[in-house]
Amino acid sequence: MIIISIANQKGGVGKTTTSINLATALAATGLCTLLIDLDPQGNASTGLGLTQADRENNSYKILLGEASVEESVVDTMVPKLQILPATVDLSGAEVELVDLEHRTHRLQMALKQADQAKWDVCLIDCPPSLGLLTINAMVASDMLLVPLQCEFFALEGLSQLLQTVDRIQQRFNPQLSIIGVALTMYDRRAKLTDQVADDVRACLGQLVFDTVIPRNVRLSEAPSHGVPALIYDHKCTGSEAYLKLAREVISRLPQEEMAA
Ligand code: ADP
Ligand code: MG
Repeated sequence: MIIISIANQKGGVGKTTTSINLATALAATGLCTLLIDLDPQGNASTGLGLTQADRENNSYKILLGEASVEESVVDTMVPKLQILPATVDLSGAEVELVDLEHRTHRLQMALKQADQAKWDVCLIDCPPSLGLLTINAMVASDMLLVPLQCEFFALEGLSQLLQTVDRIQQRFNPQLSIIGVALTMYDRRAKLTDQVADDVRACLGQLVFDTVIPRNVRLSEAPSHGVPALIYDHKCTGSEAYLKLAREVISRLPQEEMAA
């Protein structure tokens, strides 16, 4: 199982939208996929139609060692896609973890105890901060996918994110790599977004995925119906973009792992 964190400490850049729809697209191409909701807001869980009753075991309990991954995952309406849900309890975790042993490695430890052969790929939807939750995600991950919103301050904050990645690589997880940066909420009618996209590509080069996620109202409507965009409207430009991104992501995965 390859583990990919969807991370950016900025809020509202498309982490959760990317987590839900990329996970759905990966599952649609036949990969057994696990989505871990690590944001106290639980938007990925809600967006996949989970009720509170579905979340009795959740990512908070995993971090505290009160439940195993296997007993916490829940099936979704998407074949081959399971989710490990989040509840608001997780909002206390940043503080509670500070006093626990191995506070940066709690998620990694839980995932190591799980039978990882059950899934091909795991995505982790991170909260909008670089606190202990995101650090747990990065420590547990093989790769990082960074959604970047096409707006004027897109690159602002990226150096802080890259610094954190650097620190994690040096202290905890030397294998951690960045699979790519995905430009989100692209609006081809707005000159500014074009310019931002060009700037980001000039700055980050090959790291940026060719696929660009357009601003598409279907992507923002789908979660209120508790379904991924690919089920809500599989023909909308947003769904098509996430299917394309999934193909690009697969092409960037370490091939020996995928063959195993
Ligand atoms: P994050 O998880 O980084 O905070 P979200 O994925 O929740 O960001 O997105 C923030 C808001 O923008 C949500 O209301 C979401 O529905 C909307 N949104 C995200 N991506 C798109 C898109 N490509 N087109 C239109 N709306 C989007
Ligand atoms: Mg989110």
